[in-house]
Order: sequence, then structure tokens, then C-alpha cells
Amino acid sequence: MERLALRSVPVSFFSTQLLGHGSNTLFDDMGYRGVVVSTAGLRSIEWDPPPADLASCLDRSLGCDVGSSLHEGTETRGSLVLVGGGVRGDVLARMAARRGWSGLEWAGGIPGSVGAGCRHNAGAHGGRWSDIVVAAEVVVVPKTGAPTTPRLAWVARDAIAWGDRAATWPGAGNDAIAVVTAALLRLTSEASPGRAAAATAEHLAWRRERQPLGRPSAGCVFRNNPKCDGTEFGETAGALLDRLGMRGVGRGGAVVSSEHANWIVTSGAGDGEGTATAADVRDLIEECEAAADRVGATLVREVVVVPPEPAWE
Ligand SMILES: Cc1cc2nc3c(=O)[nH]c(=O)nc-3n(C[C@H](O)[C@H](O)[C@H](O)COP(=O)(O)OP(=O)(O)OC[C@H]3O[C@@H](n4cnc5c(N)ncnc54)[C@H](O)[C@@H]3O)c2cc1C
Repeated sequence: MERLALRSVPVSFFSTQLLGHGSNTLFDDMGYRGVVVSTAGLRSIEWDPPPADLASCLDRSLGCDVGSSLHEGTETRGSLVLVGGGVRGDVLARMAARRGWSGLEWAGGIPGSVGAGCRHNAGAHGGRWSDIVVAAEVVVVPKTGAPTTPRLAWVARDAIAWGDRAATWPGAGNDAIAVVTAALLRLTSEASPGRAAAATAEHLAWRRERQPLGRPSAGCVFRNNPKCDGTEFGETAGALLDRLGMRGVGRGGAVVSSEHANWIVTSGAGDGEGTATAADVRDLIEECEAAADRVGATLVREVVVVPPEPAWE
């Protein structure tokens, strides 16, 4: 039902912003003039889906062999989960751990959706979505031109060019965007019960110790590895910003976290929502970028900053 909406909006006539749970997106203080397409309502979860549902994935593949991806493992069923693009990855991780299914422990504490996570190959603690995706259901939507009827199809994991916090999807690029509406994941049944739950909890505890989770933020502002003439700069974004004196620098109601210099959080007392505007956060982002630039490093944004009237992102 929700997926039909994607087909019926003549997206190329409007500025359109795709949104999952918005944990990594900064909208403008002026709001947004255009259509926001949210995948947050795609919340179905099917543990161990029946063969008929798997067959329907295979029937709608986008010029690639979803079947061989599916049969790569030792079995076609058992620890497979078919999940909507709007399901929160951290919630799924906890549910999987409770079932004794391993493979998603790293996602504990990452507040975003499965769809956005797959699209950008989010990850942590050595794990990432590309490790567990068997196939993904996508709608490839053209960004410009006359409205077309986007097609819902399945893409095998091998047809996706996975990178570090990045992925290139077949049919998408400068002219079209791949909206991930569902994913088929392969997890593993754990040999020792309770290990997945313990590892998920450990990762969350690690975050609580090192990250400023008590205040609103969008997580890491920049990718971990700044660049220098296209190659690695050799210092993490957090360490570099720390060295450049950005830790604790504030603008209006926003401040570079004193706990982690790659995070911008709201300032003020207590754990409240704070008074940061989008402009405060954007100014600080630009200030961090300028500071890095002065020492020859290029920070690559992880946070998506949405201007008031953008084209598709
Ligand atoms: C406290 C905190 C900790 C975090 N820790 C991590 C971490 O450890 N590792 C990490 O990788 N990230 C981390 N993040 C960033 C963020 O949670 C992830 O990038 C997450 O995948 C974003 O999901 P979302 O649904 O909130 O995306 P949104 O903010 O809604 O969207 C982000 C981007 O994805 C696109 N998008 C959204 N939904 C879809 C879809 N269904 N199909 C295609 N594209 C889509 C949007 O257009 C946008 O470009 C953290 C964020 C916070 C706030």
C-alpha cells in the first residue's frame, strides 16, 4: 500500500527528499518546499519467510541473479529475515539477538532505518549491512524529466557495488535514486545461546561510554577518514578536529561535543532538547571543514544537509 505512493507521486515535478528515520538528516530552519517521501512506515518483519515469499523476490529481480545469492549459503531457509525498509536497524538487532540469531550485533545503538542503512552501507564495530544483505527490494526513481512509473524490483547483493559507508545501486546514479523498500538478510543461528544479546549490549555500553548519547545529535558529522588529495589523511575526523581545537566550540545553541569532536550536539544544561537551530549546526559544520582545509585535509560529510529547495537526494 505505502509502496504505491512512491509510484503515484510525480516526483520529477517537485523537489523531493527521501527520508527514513531522519537520524542522519538536517533540514533547514525555513522548512522544506517540496515532497518528503518517508519509508518509515515500511515496518514488516518476516522471520524465516516461507518459500512462496522468497520465490516472489526471485520473480521480480532487476536484471541480476537473486537466486544464486539466495543459494550461496548452506540453506535457503533458516536465519533468513525479510524486513521492510522502514524498520529501525537497532530494534531489529535486539529482536534478532533475543531469537538467538547472530549477525546484527554491531547495529545496536544505530538509530536509523534498514533502508537508509543498506543504501549507504552503514556500520560499526567491524560489521555493516553489506555483510548480511542477500538481496534488496528497490524502486529506482528518476530525479528529473517527465514522470514515469517507477518499478519495484529485487537486486542481488552482488549487483550492488558496496563501499565504505557507501553503495552504488544498479540503475541509480546522477539521474535516478534507488529507494530501498525491503531487504532480505541472512543471519546465523548462534551456537551458544545469549552471545548475540551480550554482544549487542556490549556495543551499546561502548557507545554510552564514548559518545554523547545524552543530547540530540545526528551522530558522526563527518566520515571517519578525512582525505588529502583523494587519499587517506591518516587521522580520524574526531582526532583531527580535536587537534585543531574544535572540541567544545559553540555556535548559538550547538556545540562540538566535548566528549567526541566528530559530533555536534545541542548545548545548554541537562539532557534537554536544547535550542540549536539548523543554521547553528550548519555554521559549525562549515567551521570544522574550514579548519581541516587549512591543514590540507578534506572532511567528507556523513550528515545529509538538506537545503530548503533541493533536488532528489
Ligand atoms: C546517535 C547516533 C549514532 C549513530 N551511529 C552510527 C554508526 O555507528 N554507524 C553509521 O554508519 N551511522 C551511524 N549513525 C548515522 C545514522 O543513524 C545512519 O546513517 C542510519 O543508517 C541513517 O538512517 P535513517 O533512516 O535515520 O536515515 P535518514 O537520516 O532518514 O536518511 C539518510 C540518507 O539516507 C537516505 N535514505 C533514507 N531512507 C532510505 C531508503 N529507504 N532507501 C534509500 N535511501 C534512503 C536519505 O535520502 C538520506 O540521504 C548514527 C546516528 C546517530 C544519531
